[in-house]
Amino acid sequence: MERIPVQQIIPEDADSRVFNLYEKKEKIYIRSMEGVFQRLRLYTGWPLLLGYFLLPWFQIEGRQAVFFNLPEQQFNIFWLTLWPQDFILLMWTLAIAAFALFFVTTLWGRVWCGYTCPQTVWTAIFSWVEQITEGERHQRINLDKIPSFFSRGGRNRAGAMKVLKRGLKHGMWLGFAALTGITFVGYFYGIRDLVSEALVWQLSLTAVSWSVFFTLATYINAGWLREHVCIYMCPYARFQSAMFDKDTLIISYDKYRGERRGSRKRNISYKETGLGDCIDCTLCVQVCPTGIDIRDGLQYECIGCAHCIDACDSIMEKMDYPKGLISYTTEHKLAGGSWTWRRPKLIGYGVVLLILCLLFSSILFMRTPVRLDVLRDRGQLYQEVAGGLIENVYILKIINMSDDVQSYALSLDGLTNVQILPQTVFEVAPREMQEQIVRVRANPDELVDFNTEFEFTIEAVGESANARIRTSAESRFFGPRPLVQSR
Ligand code: SF4
Ligand code: SF4
Repeated sequence: MERIPVQQIIPEDADSRVFNLYEKKEKIYIRSMEGVFQRLRLYTGWPLLLGYFLLPWFQIEGRQAVFFNLPEQQFNIFWLTLWPQDFILLMWTLAIAAFALFFVTTLWGRVWCGYTCPQTVWTAIFSWVEQITEGERHQRINLDKIPSFFSRGGRNRAGAMKVLKRGLKHGMWLGFAALTGITFVGYFYGIRDLVSEALVWQLSLTAVSWSVFFTLATYINAGWLREHVCIYMCPYARFQSAMFDKDTLIISYDKYRGERRGSRKRNISYKETGLGDCIDCTLCVQVCPTGIDIRDGLQYECIGCAHCIDACDSIMEKMDYPKGLISYTTEHKLAGGSWTWRRPKLIGYGVVLLILCLLFSSILFMRTPVRLDVLRDRGQLYQEVAGGLIENVYILKIINMSDDVQSYALSLDGLTNVQILPQTVFEVAPREMQEQIVRVRANPDELVDFNTEFEFTIEAVGESANARIRTSAESRFFGPRPLVQSR
């Protein structure tokens, strides 16, 4: 039997650490850091937070500006009201959001994760609460070492302080999580109704259950799971590398400048010792919310928060070295090249995104602000009425998607000499759906088949009528067999 030759592909001198995939992950104590990018994160995080909490309180023409009213099947997004029939628009929105994410990721890497992702923003707030209640990194490490007040040997002042600090932290976490959960439910329930009903203890069980669910989800995700959501649960972290190319903005350590790393005294000319600019202070690791060492290269755990850039820049400043040992850069730049936008992937995503946006805008603009759905009465196929006429019954659902009261005239195409009862003009309030039972009577001699296809058409009439406000829906008219007459 022929042997398959194998060869060693890992160099003999390679770092041969063995990773246990099931090993217990060590708790990360994030060190707080200030700097240019942390200020930038504040400037992006606060508007998002304020937007999230305040948006449901805004009203437009007496209704909640952003309101996903599930019982009435209306989705108000500022001046636009969408209905379940506009599901296709939701598909378009999702497609645009996906391609926008692909485009931004190819261009700027994980800026979404670092600056705007709700998980990052909420985790940053929870970390800040932890810092003001339990102290800085070293104080939190020491606090964890203090025996629990409820254990033997823990009933002392330090143990009591630990309980107090932890209680305060979890209380604040739960308070903020409750605010988040209630606001989220307010987008679907109506925030004013939710709060006023809660104040008089008359909230429905559904509202209470969902509020508790989202409160706990926020508390667990931002308080306990934190970076685990990004590393193990978020699918984006796994596939974003497929969008990267050599000109994508990444956060990277400049190993050519930094190595050989090593500590040194400030006033010693280290160049003579053969050391690079990295003084191996590990500050970049201590501030990292996912606990990685950026000096090991680009890793999928890196959420692009730029904590390490600020940390390293502060060290470089103290050492009187140029800033930027860790920086936003690209693989091309690191290899001595320059950045370019002429990349097939970037252009491809950009073109698709542009086309999707144009198509979406035109669909939205051309959208007819009235909808007609027709259901046949399931009780009976047809009945014979006075005068030998054949009657079919239909249920019409007319949705006025405009902001004005509209009158619609009903007509039929495909059937001749028919009577429509009880009326042919319907007035529908703005953003309302009206259900109408309509009886259609036809002379059996006029029918060419026992099953005739025809169309209901409604058209806006009156002063505010507009030629665009017209729509149709197909249905069938049944009669007795045989109805085919020679003509
Ligand atoms: S913060 Fe900068 S100098 Fe300190 S270990 Fe990290 S890369 Fe080296
Ligand atoms: S290495 Fe850590 S600190 Fe640096 S950007 Fe990535 S996640 Fe943030």
